[in-house]
Amino acid sequence: MPKVKNWQINREMEYPYEEKRPKKQVAYVFDTNKCIACQTCTVACKTTWTSGQGQEQMFWNNVETKPYGFYPKAWDVKLLKTMGRQDWEGQTYQGETVFENPPAGQRVKGHLPAYEDYAHPNIGEDEIFGLIEKGAFFSGMHNAWMFYMARICNHCTYPACLAACPRKAIYKREEDGVVLVDQTRCRGYKECVKACPYKKVFFNMVTRTSEKCIACYPLLEKGEQPRCVQTCIGKIRLQGWLSEPGKEDPNNPLDYIVRIKKAALPLYPQSGTEPNVYYIPPVHVPREFLLQMFGAGVEEAIQTYQTVRSDPKLLAAFLLFGNTPKIITKFEHTNEAAIGFDEKGNEVVRVPFREPFFEREMFDAKLNVYRHNTA
Ligand code: SF4
Ligand code: SF4
Repeated sequence: MPKVKNWQINREMEYPYEEKRPKKQVAYVFDTNKCIACQTCTVACKTTWTSGQGQEQMFWNNVETKPYGFYPKAWDVKLLKTMGRQDWEGQTYQGETVFENPPAGQRVKGHLPAYEDYAHPNIGEDEIFGLIEKGAFFSGMHNAWMFYMARICNHCTYPACLAACPRKAIYKREEDGVVLVDQTRCRGYKECVKACPYKKVFFNMVTRTSEKCIACYPLLEKGEQPRCVQTCIGKIRLQGWLSEPGKEDPNNPLDYIVRIKKAALPLYPQSGTEPNVYYIPPVHVPREFLLQMFGAGVEEAIQTYQTVRSDPKLLAAFLLFGNTPKIITKFEHTNEAAIGFDEKGNEVVRVPFREPFFEREMFDAKLNVYRHNTA
């Protein structure tokens, strides 16, 4: 099997196809510290793409509460069980990816969820880990914890869905790295559903083919961010393009946050698929849990996030989240504002570091009225 380089696990690994990176890679940063689980993203995606027959159980975008929320049920618990030992030495992953040592006759280690596993997308919602003792009060850090995690297809660099498909019906676009299912080639064998570590390919019971997130590519092609990103109430998301490893551009906000400052991390990098949704880890959650979920860089990422005020450039990159529908390919900042530019170099957003505020005079002499509403 060919050997490919996976920068997230800092080593070479086996993959059924040769390494071939797209011209640019669609990528996202999600700040878990800001998500409020309003599910606006879920609804935006659902109403745009999956309101048809056979798509009832499908949420290409979902938001689950960790540690007890799953969609489909227990998806990551089962993934971790199939993978065995998963330790890191420094930044290098020591265990096996889903592509290494698969069961005989298969290309990927995976599991196929039962149909009922999709029936309760909000299972575990708002359930905390840990008990609250009688008389407990908030003293700066919660002992009981949970956090919200928004999930979409990761448009992986080494997609497990693509690797497993015996029909070669799944492909990764050279121009932007979007992973798509060719509906005319798919025969519904569900190998992709079984292989995807993130369970982000879905089987349509009516059409008998697989379907998945398409990264809203009609919007990407117009220079606009996907629906789930544009509609996010918490402004937790930024979509852009990630450069090839070694060719990072410090003025590209995705490169800067993910590769240069390492403030956002991939979900279960040990899968080996090189997923391209990067999460800023929740600062209040026990580190062992986060280490398992986001890999070796957790401590550093949290430290960088918590000291962002000392890094105006990183702060500027964070301010770009949720403030324009356009894709920002370059950014810069002044002492007052973060400024984002599109692919053609046009300014598409300017966000002040400090939000301006205006205080009205209590008495409006022109209209002869008091502008306050106390009795
Ligand atoms: S997240 Fe799953 S469906 Fe999406 S590209 Fe990766 S392996 Fe394929
Ligand atoms: S819209 Fe944003 S804040 Fe609301 S659930 Fe989705 S990711 Fe979280």
